[in-house]
Amino acid sequence: MKRCIALILCLILLRLPTHAAEQEKLVALTFDDGPSGRYTQRLLDGLEERNVKATFLLCGYRMEQYPTLTQKIYQLGHEIGLHGYSHKTLQHTCRQGAQREIQKAMELIPDGCEITFFRSPGGLCSKDVLEVAKEWELSMLLWSVDPKDWAVHDAAAITKSVVDRVKDGDIILLHDMSDSSVDAAFTIIDQLQEQGYRFVTASQLAAEKNITPRPGIEYRRFGA
Ligand SMILES: [Zn+2]
Repeated sequence: MKRCIALILCLILLRLPTHAAEQEKLVALTFDDGPSGRYTQRLLDGLEERNVKATFLLCGYRMEQYPTLTQKIYQLGHEIGLHGYSHKTLQHTCRQGAQREIQKAMELIPDGCEITFFRSPGGLCSKDVLEVAKEWELSMLLWSVDPKDWAVHDAAAITKSVVDRVKDGDIILLHDMSDSSVDAAFTIIDQLQEQGYRFVTASQLAAEKNITPRPGIEYRRFGA
């Protein structure tokens, strides 16, 4: 009898960590290239309805165009990261060019907003860009799930591409630049929340996984 009880206890203990891990599936939605007027506004409304915080990698020239929307993203509690000023790719840019892109974008960030991440346009980088990012104490935020929403323009296909392959700790790349991307973001949230996923910002995802992002280092996902 004692052996039997011990065996049952062992089985319960073995099962506990698996169960805990199942409950704690985290994922971060990231949106590049905005703010972009009505698409960003629609996205913010839908995120608020679903009580989801996301990460917006903003372009400087668009923050100039939409300062109120930029402020709203910050005030609603979303995370803001930099996506350069002009959105030109930086892998062949000189050190001074990369410096200008980051500095000009940084000057447009709302007062009090702390920036942890830089996402180089296209995710394309060089040693110089990494060094400049490090000087600004910025980590490089890449992604692990890319449904290519900017090319697909089909909300159902974008959703399926993400939902089929997403895992705990993933960083999903989307763009708040079209209705199909915004529609997909909402169905992705609805379907993954039903599967027990919790949506957090990139910084929150890192913190939940006990990772402190280091300046000048690239991150594709946070977690095992
Ligand atoms: Zn981009």
